[in-house]
Amino acid sequence: MKMSKLFVQTLREYPSDAEVVSHKMLARAGYIRKLTSGVYNFLPLMWRVLKKIETIVREEMDASGAQELLMPFVQPKELWEESGRWDAYGKELMRLKDRHDRIMCLGPTHEEVITAIARDGLKSYKQLPVNLYQIQSKFRDEVRPRYGLLRGREFIMKDAYSFDTDEAGLDKEYENMARAYKRIFDRCGLDTKMVQSDSGAIGGSVSHEFMVITDTDAGENDVFYCNNCDYSANSNHAVSKLQPAVVDGKEYFSKNETIDTPNTHSIEELSKFLNIPSTLILKTLVYIVDKKPVLALIRADRAVEETKLMNAVGGIEIRIASSAEIAELMANKGFDAVPGFIGPKGMDGITIIIDETVRDMKNFVVGVNQTDKHQVGANLSDLGLNSHPEVAAGGSIIYHDIRLVEEGDICPECGKPLLVTKGIEVGNIFKLGTKYSKPMNAVYTDINGEMKPYIMGCYGIGISRTAAAAVEAHHDEFGIKWPLSIAPYHVVVVPVSTNDEIQMSTAEKIYEDLLKSGVEVVLDDRDERAGVKFKDADLIGFPYRITAGKTLTEGLVECKIRETGEVMKLTPEKAVEFVRNAVANIK
Ligand code: ATP
Ligand code: MG
Repeated sequence: MKMSKLFVQTLREYPSDAEVVSHKMLARAGYIRKLTSGVYNFLPLMWRVLKKIETIVREEMDASGAQELLMPFVQPKELWEESGRWDAYGKELMRLKDRHDRIMCLGPTHEEVITAIARDGLKSYKQLPVNLYQIQSKFRDEVRPRYGLLRGREFIMKDAYSFDTDEAGLDKEYENMARAYKRIFDRCGLDTKMVQSDSGAIGGSVSHEFMVITDTDAGENDVFYCNNCDYSANSNHAVSKLQPAVVDGKEYFSKNETIDTPNTHSIEELSKFLNIPSTLILKTLVYIVDKKPVLALIRADRAVEETKLMNAVGGIEIRIASSAEIAELMANKGFDAVPGFIGPKGMDGITIIIDETVRDMKNFVVGVNQTDKHQVGANLSDLGLNSHPEVAAGGSIIYHDIRLVEEGDICPECGKPLLVTKGIEVGNIFKLGTKYSKPMNAVYTDINGEMKPYIMGCYGIGISRTAAAAVEAHHDEFGIKWPLSIAPYHVVVVPVSTNDEIQMSTAEKIYEDLLKSGVEVVLDDRDERAGVKFKDADLIGFPYRITAGKTLTEGLVECKIRETGEVMKLTPEKAVEFVRNAVANIK
């Protein structure tokens, strides 16, 4: 390809709405153009990268025994009602109506459609196991589309779905997919960590995410991990061994009483006012889960992990309550307290979730739903928690782990301190079990002639997100440093001056020789200053640059490796051979 013909317009500046490196660089280097919020054109350079990632994914999925198909992008409401997700999925599901008033949605994922396909075709145990996958555009009306291709609304995904007769079969396929994923990301030049995660809206019991670890702003996930053993988990799922609260040995509040605590709206103010450690305060937080208020009780030195809390309640949407919602709750219960003074007492009928950190608390401080007052020397038995539905049913207080793990917490598996880092989720694997097959009555006949629901798994990879994650992982201040396996072109050949006949003819000869060897090469034949061409080469991120310039007087060209910055002076033949060998060695 000649640079003068290549459809690429590099920009002088980064686009103003780009916050992270991959968005900035892919836009500036002419890979993507925004069409509307969270929706991008993949221009020719981008499309070459995406096709390479797709090819790697296809090769590894096929090698692992999966079969490719393609399902429709538009899906009917009825299928989603069968699975129960029409109501459960929330606003990310883009719903629309056709001319006959039939209600449809744009596929954000395809569990329903694939389960319907299986139900029609997989009738006997003899046909199982099967793993089916597709590579396709998805649409999710994300609350906050951002970071370019990392969190778009329309994006490309590989999604695979497995069908087995039993859990052992699912376990085997899950491992098979985990190995395939490892190979896929390795081949894409990405170091990934496989971490435990929450199963979210897709559901199921066990799931893992593949994270590209990054120190850039693009890492949306906190990953807790242990250096001593191989424990690692997304913060929405991470647990740690409960450590007793550090108290300073002093006896606080032997008397149980309600006292004045004026203007103590925050934990900090309260602990300062009472001159006590925050571990002695029971914090009451009000959340809204699926439109209903929920109280979360936790020792005040710790924070609540919202996904864990949401799962404890069995909800699908969670947020912290606004001051107005807290005021409304107080009014409904006949109290008159502002935030900072809320407590669990007298909250009949409101779901209360108690974190495990509360279990050992004694003689603590807690809000009593009266502004400027707290109860001190309190114990759990004082709080009248028997109104809690689970408590009422079981007779004893029920605890959940709803706390956010913090760096330095104790590893649940080996007891050493946990570390934290940021990660970009590029893929995930889920054990679904019968979550879809049961409600959708997707069954096969087993060896004894009995009808059984399939045991399913699902496995996703964000193709476009993987490309962006590769930029996050491989770049410098000048531009992208594509791994050779997914670069749009392997090499650019730059004649320093297009008017210099020797430089130009040498560059053209190198270009022709590389083309003949099957190397993907661009000849920068533009009549531009060398500096401009070098800048573009670095920005676009060609893994190699061969420059035909002054050194030709010695019969040599320069071959620069983008990744390391290393420059070699070689004869044109050797330079061709060097790049050809590197390309031949792509895994
Ligand atoms: P996230 O937690 O980042 O929203 P998810 O759990 O919703 O991801 P899945 O539904 O399992 O993701 O989708 C499979 C893969 O698709 C993800 O691992 C990710 O790589 C990719 N993906 C998900 N949402 C987006 C998005 N909005 N833009 C680009 N890629 C995405
Ligand atoms: Mg999501």
